[in-house]
Amino acid sequence: MHKPIYDITPFSALDYPDKTACIIWFAGCNMRCGYCYNPTIVEGKGRFQYTDALRFLKQRHGLLDGTVLSGGECMLHKDLPRFAREIKDLGLLLKIDTNGTSPGKLKVMITNKLIDYVALDFKAPPKTFKEITGSNLFELVNKSLDVLLDSDLPFEVRTTYHSDLHSLADMQTILDLLLRKGYRGTYFIQNFVSDGPTLKRLGSSTPLKNENDLRSQLKVVIRNR
Ligand code: SF4
Repeated sequence: MHKPIYDITPFSALDYPDKTACIIWFAGCNMRCGYCYNPTIVEGKGRFQYTDALRFLKQRHGLLDGTVLSGGECMLHKDLPRFAREIKDLGLLLKIDTNGTSPGKLKVMITNKLIDYVALDFKAPPKTFKEITGSNLFELVNKSLDVLLDSDLPFEVRTTYHSDLHSLADMQTILDLLLRKGYRGTYFIQNFVSDGPTLKRLGSSTPLKNENDLRSQLKVVIRNR
């Protein structure tokens, strides 16, 4: 029996912009970011089926605005579009948190109006992408950005910042790349914060504090400063 889901957070007021939502955490990921603070989700097995999650969502009917599909990497899972359709049929908004490595599926789901909002992780510039994510998947992420830019779907681009892994010049390179490609939304920098285990052992990060350290026409917002 396919069990793609690792866990469900029943309520969050922080993970879907201006909405209340539950978070569905999918097991497994095709990246291995050193700073990942969800090693048990990334390396663990799923414990729940789609039907379990749908039963939970039906019980919460009228209490939530939306659902966030996160992980791990939710887009890797088969039957995700069908699951998304069933969530939408319950009248819930759907946000996808993704590392951007499934541009084809993303396009199909947007075309079929299965997604209402996307948070795209843009983890590193091409030069350091492999070192930071343990993968060679930068071009797929770049394609996902193209898919989102070609759509009229609201989305955000964000980067988790750890001072051992990113330089200010790297962050500037990402900003310049986003602007060149035509992104005009807000760029979110999430300072790494974790007191639990991470995929790799890292030192503590010196947080970025000042948006003005970066120069761009894009609006930059630093979280967890
Ligand atoms: S931080 Fe990296 S390894 Fe962890 S879930 Fe996200 S993409 Fe996967």
